[in-house]
Amino acid sequence: MLGLGDMTHGKQAGKRCVPVTDAAGRGPAQGVSLFLSGTDSAEAIWQTIRAHLRAEYGARTYDSWLKPLTLVSVDADTVTLGSPTHFTADWIRNHFAERLRLLWAAQSAAIQHIRIVVENGLKTAPAPEPEPVAAVVREEPAFGVALEPRYTFDSFVVGKANELAYNAARTVAEGGPSDFNPLYLHGTTGLGKTHLMHAIGWQIRSAMPGAKVVYMSAEKFMVEFVSAMRDKDTLSFKQRLRSADLLMIDDVQFIAGKDSTQEEFFHTMNEIISAGKRLVITADRSPQNLEGIENRILSRLAWGLVADINPADYELRLSILLEKMKRLPGATVGEDVIDFLARKITSNVRELEGALNRIVAYSTLVGKPIDLDFARQVLADVLKAHDRKVTIDEIQRKVADYYAIKLSDLLSARRAREVARPRQVAMFLAKRLTPRSLPDIGRRFGGRDHTTVMHAVKRIEELRADDSELDADITRLTRIIDA
Ligand code: ADP
Ligand code: MG
Repeated sequence: MLGLGDMTHGKQAGKRCVPVTDAAGRGPAQGVSLFLSGTDSAEAIWQTIRAHLRAEYGARTYDSWLKPLTLVSVDADTVTLGSPTHFTADWIRNHFAERLRLLWAAQSAAIQHIRIVVENGLKTAPAPEPEPVAAVVREEPAFGVALEPRYTFDSFVVGKANELAYNAARTVAEGGPSDFNPLYLHGTTGLGKTHLMHAIGWQIRSAMPGAKVVYMSAEKFMVEFVSAMRDKDTLSFKQRLRSADLLMIDDVQFIAGKDSTQEEFFHTMNEIISAGKRLVITADRSPQNLEGIENRILSRLAWGLVADINPADYELRLSILLEKMKRLPGATVGEDVIDFLARKITSNVRELEGALNRIVAYSTLVGKPIDLDFARQVLADVLKAHDRKVTIDEIQRKVADYYAIKLSDLLSARRAREVARPRQVAMFLAKRLTPRSLPDIGRRFGGRDHTTVMHAVKRIEELRADDSELDADITRLTRIIDA
């Protein structure tokens, strides 16, 4: 997906930024920028390697895993590549690092190591390519950053949590009253602020062909402003911004406390508003809570329309997942998995969408169908953060209930098969569903040794592969325990 934030790392402001087209030669780059110190050849090599990877692994795998990689640096014998999340970085390290190393070495003999770093913890798992029809309308902006074709009003799902912001955005996009200026959208991360902003941009562009729509993050605003100051060319910077018919600045909290940028930003804001042009701003907090900003400016912000977005409830999360499924036409994801995601991933929509993309991409890669078990495995790290704690006690009670045996028998030393197998299942589930160590689990099962637990886990794993009844029991039990 287009990692808008990634284009504009403040810390990279001083370095040269070379935009990259993707492997198929289509521009603009999918949020990819190179920050190398004068090594055009490294960039060229990287492009060659990307094209190679695409041909070798096919579009689906390439788009899901390899395309989001960015070239961070080339340093003597080491190439550093950035991957958007810990999960994808691990995956790349385990599955593609050696291939990457060989490809690099073939192009440049000096290269011996590939380092994969996490470039931006905030990014979601890679999303599929925009549909071709959307790609056609993608326009390169004269200034600012391109709008993401997927972020339209049509693809935005409305629920209680976001209807205020949605209605406000629609009103502004349809040229609502001037006292709706500026529109200030706020909410914590991943709730759809940027999506709504781009939707406004698309709508204004289609309703008023030729309208100048400028979108950028506040971070990019700062980077551009600082570089204009350095080049002693702030005039053209100001003019370009102020000629916008619609100016949208995303995540303004970023410039709070950055004095000169802030000063410039708020002058721009004033001028845009006085000229009767539209201004849309987002932030992760309300205007009152933006710290270190002059009162005069705050009250100006609050004059307009301030709308917040709240975290989505279950229904909205479910509807959003169904909407996102439309963009993954090849994937079969059962209702139970969709419901599971909607119940478990409550933090924000970005994570929810990332989780869905991840299981779909992973299933394509390993050629496995997506069922609950699969989803649970692939999302283990995400779920850990969200899961309520499952206890060993609970597992023991529920397994005993399920097999209609006594809890005391489950924990006893009896070796009769009707209690031994449920006991192994319970141990297996304890390992799977809790963070407890093997010795810990052993202790809780009547003081058994950790090797017994290890054996049980292995045994159940083996049996499951052939014994569909046992497999179904485990799936059912997992659902019961983890309800
Ligand atoms: P924010 O800017 O608030 O951090 P984004 O606008 O980047 O969040 O949204 C994160 C992801 O979640 C995007 O891919 C966006 O399309 C998706 N999203 C958020 N809210 C909705 C919604 N109501 N309907 C559809 N997609 C949504
Ligand atoms: Mg955003």
